[in-house]
Amino acid sequence: MNHDLKDMTLEELERIVVGLGQKKYLAGYLFQFVHAQDGRDLPALTTLSKAFRAQLAEQGYFISQIKVADCLSDPDGSAKYLFELADGERIESVLLPDEDRLTLCVSTQVGCPMGCAFCATGKIQFRRNLTAAEIVEQVYAAEASLVARRSSLDEEPAADSGPALETSNLKLETPEARPRITNLVYMGMGEPFQNYDAVMRSIRILNHSSGRNIGIRHITVSTSGVAPAIRRFAKEEIRPRLAISLSAPADALRDRLMPINRKHPLPELIDAVRAYQAETGQRVTFEYVLIDKVNDTVNHAKLLVKLLRGLMYNVNLIEHNPFAGCEFTGSSRDRIQRFADELKEAGVETTIRFRMGRGIKAACGQLQAGYQPRKPAEGTRGTARHQ
Ligand code: SAH
Ligand code: SF4
Repeated sequence: MNHDLKDMTLEELERIVVGLGQKKYLAGYLFQFVHAQDGRDLPALTTLSKAFRAQLAEQGYFISQIKVADCLSDPDGSAKYLFELADGERIESVLLPDEDRLTLCVSTQVGCPMGCAFCATGKIQFRRNLTAAEIVEQVYAAEASLVARRSSLDEEPAADSGPALETSNLKLETPEARPRITNLVYMGMGEPFQNYDAVMRSIRILNHSSGRNIGIRHITVSTSGVAPAIRRFAKEEIRPRLAISLSAPADALRDRLMPINRKHPLPELIDAVRAYQAETGQRVTFEYVLIDKVNDTVNHAKLLVKLLRGLMYNVNLIEHNPFAGCEFTGSSRDRIQRFADELKEAGVETTIRFRMGRGIKAACGQLQAGYQPRKPAEGTRGTARHQ
């Protein structure tokens, strides 16, 4: 049985508390302590009796934590965290400050099993799923490091580690005016819908009004196109925004770039999105990584418009970000602009995404957490590994 209190929803804590012969409302104190007050040690939870705290500890309950192993900041304001998990595995998260928003891009797996040809995370070996606690901890650990950073800046302005973030213009939500992450994107290492239960559990925890209370419309989950999971997601009561990484308008090309397409080809994916929209009335964002002369012609743009006809959507165009050993290069500014113009002329709301964090390898598709890329198996393109 899982004994990590950080991994549990309020309802699960209530069942545990009642099972231990205690009053149900005490679960609320526990949940608030862990998720609203950044509580890390049970002994510090003095609103619970000493006897109850001892009982929890005796039963093996604990509050997990992840370690900040490294933090790099980019002159553009973004920062990349390298976190070490309890078993020594490593993941990365990226902090993206933008006017009054502070967005964290979180990981959901160590590595990624999907093997997309243009993505650094897809080139390293998939190691394991993250727990919900490890996902929410990325938020708490990033916030805690910002607080530590700010107080060290107050004391000694020349400090040279940690993200040099200008937080004075951020919406500060707590009485002690500590910086809070306002938006979350599940776009770090891993495929969220291959770790569906832990991802949804982390969202329920982070969105809960007694915890961090991050608005559900401030959370976006991005999938490479696990069609059955999109249908399941449509039925969730607590449902964040949905983004879908497309990057090709036709099956043959998408099969090559994103091996998930061989399992769930475009007609199946588009049908799932249609079903999702019939159920929820929500529009989706399609992400399209622009790779020089591979998927970036005007004809590709025309095919894309045709493919998505009848859906409610917008498109984010992302210039392909480079990494060592990648066979692709990003499209030129001109080609990106021509692609965007074609979409806009067809009436599609299109954004060219700002490539923050490139200098510290923190931009989309560059996260590798220091793991070595696996060698491609002989006779394959090295992209065929997925669940
Ligand atoms: N696995 C999920 C979420 C993480 S990837 C998914 O694929 O949707 C986040 C985004 O980065 C995806 O839209 C993906 O297409 C994009 N991406 C991957 N590699 C990239 C690269 N090298 N340059 C630019 N974007 C990339
Ligand atoms: Fe995994 Fe997303 Fe990278 Fe594909 S693009 S390998 S699904 S992280």
